[in-house]
Amino acid sequence: MAQRVAVSDNGSKKASRVRVAVRLRPYMGKQDDKGKQDDKGEGPCVRGLDSQNLEIINWRNATETVKYHFDVFHGENTTQQEVFLSSVKPILPHVLRGQNASVFAYGPTGAGKTHTMMGSSEQPGMIPRAVGEIFHLVNDQDENEGWDYTVGMSYLEIYNEKVLDLLSPSSLDLPIRQDKDKNILIPGLTHTTISSFADFDRQFVPASLNRTTASTKLNQRSSRSHAILLIKVVRTQRALATRQQTGKLYLVDLAGSEDNRRTGNQGIRLKESGAINLSLFTLNKVVDSLNSGASVRVPYRDSKLTRLLQDSLGGSAHSVMITNIAPEYKYYFDTFSTLNFAAKSKLIVNKPFTCETVAVQPVKRAREEHEAGGSGTVPHKKKQREEKKAEQDASSPSSHVYSLSEPSVMDRLVALEKLMMSCQDKDSVNMLKHVAQSRKEIQELKEKQKEFESKTMLLSQLAKENSTRPEAAFRTNEAPLQPKPGTVSKVNKKQAVVQPLQVSQLQPLNQLAAIRKQSVCIKKAGKMLPDHMELPGDKENIMLKAWESQLDVCILEQSRQKILQILNAGSVKELKGLQQIGDKKAKLILGWREIHGVFHKLEDLCKVEGMTEKRFSSFMKANILSAIGK
Ligand code: ADP
Ligand code: MG
Repeated sequence: MAQRVAVSDNGSKKASRVRVAVRLRPYMGKQDDKGKQDDKGEGPCVRGLDSQNLEIINWRNATETVKYHFDVFHGENTTQQEVFLSSVKPILPHVLRGQNASVFAYGPTGAGKTHTMMGSSEQPGMIPRAVGEIFHLVNDQDENEGWDYTVGMSYLEIYNEKVLDLLSPSSLDLPIRQDKDKNILIPGLTHTTISSFADFDRQFVPASLNRTTASTKLNQRSSRSHAILLIKVVRTQRALATRQQTGKLYLVDLAGSEDNRRTGNQGIRLKESGAINLSLFTLNKVVDSLNSGASVRVPYRDSKLTRLLQDSLGGSAHSVMITNIAPEYKYYFDTFSTLNFAAKSKLIVNKPFTCETVAVQPVKRAREEHEAGGSGTVPHKKKQREEKKAEQDASSPSSHVYSLSEPSVMDRLVALEKLMMSCQDKDSVNMLKHVAQSRKEIQELKEKQKEFESKTMLLSQLAKENSTRPEAAFRTNEAPLQPKPGTVSKVNKKQAVVQPLQVSQLQPLNQLAAIRKQSVCIKKAGKMLPDHMELPGDKENIMLKAWESQLDVCILEQSRQKILQILNAGSVKELKGLQQIGDKKAKLILGWREIHGVFHKLEDLCKVEGMTEKRFSSFMKANILSAIGK
């Protein structure tokens, strides 16, 4: 009886992770178009950095890229032989030792899965190379070791969650079973012995045709089914014929990872699309669980594909996922989602993807770069200024961000983020939509804000002339950006609350020092803010902070911590519970958090869109006073 070998490899007992390789196919925008409008020779949107890293333009901001790290990155010039040598060949000897292995090609339709797995007669893919290598290894075995080897094959397709035998195309949906040794079996599946590569080829080629001729809409079907070739190597000990070891090698050309419901595949039934997504979605979850290393349940049973691959993924199995991606802009969404599913971490890099693919550079920007000694040494502050400019430039028709910001693409990207963040909070989803689509609106608000700010400054000057008391400063600074009827009485009311909290006696020296130090810190942080956030004059800054000096340092610090906690953990509702935070700002804060993580200090709030230092000061005052007043 064939036995699955125990979970061990050279004595180490640990579950194998799935190695993830990414292969970028060559740019073929023009050939691919065949007159279609979707690629205007815009160049690639993704590129390799080295043998493990690649970057893709950030859809949120054309002046940033998103960088991904993988086990291996195969650039567009990588040959089939190079992919084979680095990603497939090393796992094959295990199959002759009774262990299981799997190689699968993942990615959107058109990105090169079939090319990678099957290839062509000029450029044979992983399947012919792996089978050839298996025979090579078998023939190379030392006779004196006393084992006889037999090689067999099965070939099946999972289409619409049905298991179909490609070597016997008339068969119906086959069941998947597990024996007592946890080997996965498919009763009724044709399994034929093959004696050489030529023998394999003779059976494989017509069987592949079975796959495609089984459907009238053959292209659609082949991109929506998983083609699975099983090569089984059984070795039997000559002296003890009952001792057998079986190693299985699965070579899988997966269905396209694009969302068929949204990529215009006409006539596709919802059930069919859902089934494909279920298998791929489950495969992602399985790979994720295996690679996370945690002892979580691996959801093999949730789809036919993962059930079938159960004994060849994880455990003692050796698996590699070759993630295929295409460089053209029309694949942007699919590439982005494919990379996000394949990689467990990504890094936003603060630099444009390429000068050509981002909007036209303003003259001033070029000069700044020159002054800073070239793009590689542009200081952070200047970069931020450039980003702002590029964001505005993104409205230029020459920009690729323009095409990415089409509502449908935006919706899909937002939905992808929602999925990735397992975001159950409806508010957050709306917020993401909001962030993506309301840049223009924010720009308008900024203009209005500037207008009001200059009015406020004027009022502030007048107040300074009339009185130097802190209360007067408080009153003028409290003036909202959009005055409403009854504002003055409101301000007076707040002032009445503040009065009893004023510390009449002199504060201990060390507390005063602490307060002063804090003010300096705030000013320093202010200096690091992007240019568009204006710094108020020193005098005014001191006046803005004057109210703080009226408070006990401990209480002040406690209130600051409380506010920071709400900023970092609060829901939209809780954020709106803060003074001066409305629906829009709450969502912008959530958006900032989703992208950048936590606010390390309260001053980080100034990095949120629309939050100037002045607004921040006003926000702090209102919230601290309100917290203390409770
Ligand atoms: P998929 O199976 O993912 O839908 P294909 O393998 O059919 O994609 O590839 C789409 C097209 O791109 C085919 O014409 C294929 O020959 C070509 N192609 C894919 N990858 C490469 C590559 N690495 N080098 C050259 N051509 C490629
Ligand atoms: Mg294909």
